[in-house]
Amino acid sequence: MDLLIVNAALVTCDDQRRVLARQGILVRGNRIVATGESAALEAAHPDVERFDARGLAVLPGFINAHTHTVLTALRGSVEDWDGDMIYGYMSPVSYTMTDEERAVMAMLGCVEAIRSGTTTLVDPFRHVLSYGGAMASTGLRLWLSESCADIDTRKIRHGDYSEDPAFGAQFLDRAEAMIEALHGSHGDRVRCQVAAHAPDNCSPAMLRRLLDLAARHGLTRTVHLSQSPGEGKAVMAARGTTSAAYLDREGFLGPDLTAAHWTFCTPADIELLAARGVTMAHTPASISRRRGMHQAKLGLIRDAGVRVVFGSDNMTEDMFQAMTIGSILHRTGRGRAVEGGVTPGPDAILDAVTRDAAASVGAAAEIGRILPGYKADLTFIDLNTPALRPVIRLVSSIVHYGHPGAVHSVMVDGEFVLRDRRVLTVDEPALLREAQAVTRRVWERMIAQNPDLARPEADLPWLDL
Ligand SMILES: [Zn+2]
Repeated sequence: MDLLIVNAALVTCDDQRRVLARQGILVRGNRIVATGESAALEAAHPDVERFDARGLAVLPGFINAHTHTVLTALRGSVEDWDGDMIYGYMSPVSYTMTDEERAVMAMLGCVEAIRSGTTTLVDPFRHVLSYGGAMASTGLRLWLSESCADIDTRKIRHGDYSEDPAFGAQFLDRAEAMIEALHGSHGDRVRCQVAAHAPDNCSPAMLRRLLDLAARHGLTRTVHLSQSPGEGKAVMAARGTTSAAYLDREGFLGPDLTAAHWTFCTPADIELLAARGVTMAHTPASISRRRGMHQAKLGLIRDAGVRVVFGSDNMTEDMFQAMTIGSILHRTGRGRAVEGGVTPGPDAILDAVTRDAAASVGAAAEIGRILPGYKADLTFIDLNTPALRPVIRLVSSIVHYGHPGAVHSVMVDGEFVLRDRRVLTVDEPALLREAQAVTRRVWERMIAQNPDLARPEADLPWLDL
């Protein structure tokens, strides 16, 4: 279908960082074929259906460079607890859930993402093939991966770090099957990555197999890196070095790798990661939520020239939060003004959820900018909203004051998935009811299967909402 978007305030994210008034965008099929003055495009294409974007800012759709939609099942429970969330709750809950339950919670995350102006999710997790199709049915663009380990992540909280080749083989089989079934599917809207879960739960043999898998299929790769003191201790004990140096020794670092977190990276680790061209997926809101401002060496990381992209990570898909809190953290990390302004500036923050995030999955020439030839992944933000008036510097306003409630419409691959604030691809009220019921069931089953875990005290006694 051809569509001419008219009268837009256009944020191109192109090399000149153009922000333009009264712009038109001609969409043909799943691509942008022309941009320019609205009036000129209207005159040149009199018969094409119009979408009037008067009062709306149109941006490249946000790319969430690191998230786990299934973990919405933990929302509102573990954020305020201390202790090992990764092996204490995230791993047990994922094994507790049925395929159908994972699908419901993943779709909940997808719909939240859509309402947050997101068009692409990069989502490594477990048993992904069983629910990847459900995620795709929401209309989002996806980079999916089976987050592999050959040390049983269900045993680590009990101190058992023994290697388990059979456990690892199941992951590799699931990863192969997922790539076979999903990579390039849904009109190439769904693609796959290769994921190592983390350096403390992947042996050298597993890392080698994952490198081979990525090479055979030509896929980008991802990993969690230096995300907890426990990981650092385990890697030092088993491999005699830091997480980053261990991955480097096994040949796992490279420009096709995005590593999430970097929390406990040393200056030498950062130098190494920068030299290898590894992208940092930073999840500023998620990682600051439990224990205060994220303490990664963000100034060093930026000064080393590392490409930084943003994700929401756990229990939310809100990329406005990522931008707002990311801006604060990275400015704190830099700690100084540059050329009369502050750094990173709003354009760099927006890059972390658009063009740079696109580059991290090898799609810099396809998504992340609004230019002819790019995929029609667009976010429409309502400027007739109190938080975004007055408009003086549009990108600055969106980075600092944008919020999901201002998202008016979202287009992915040339199709609206949200239009006039209505989700078009999913029965949203039914999904919300189902997600509430699933979460209750999953928690009860997880506690029954893992009696050592604490149960959240729901202050609403599982209300039938
Ligand atoms: Zn993660």
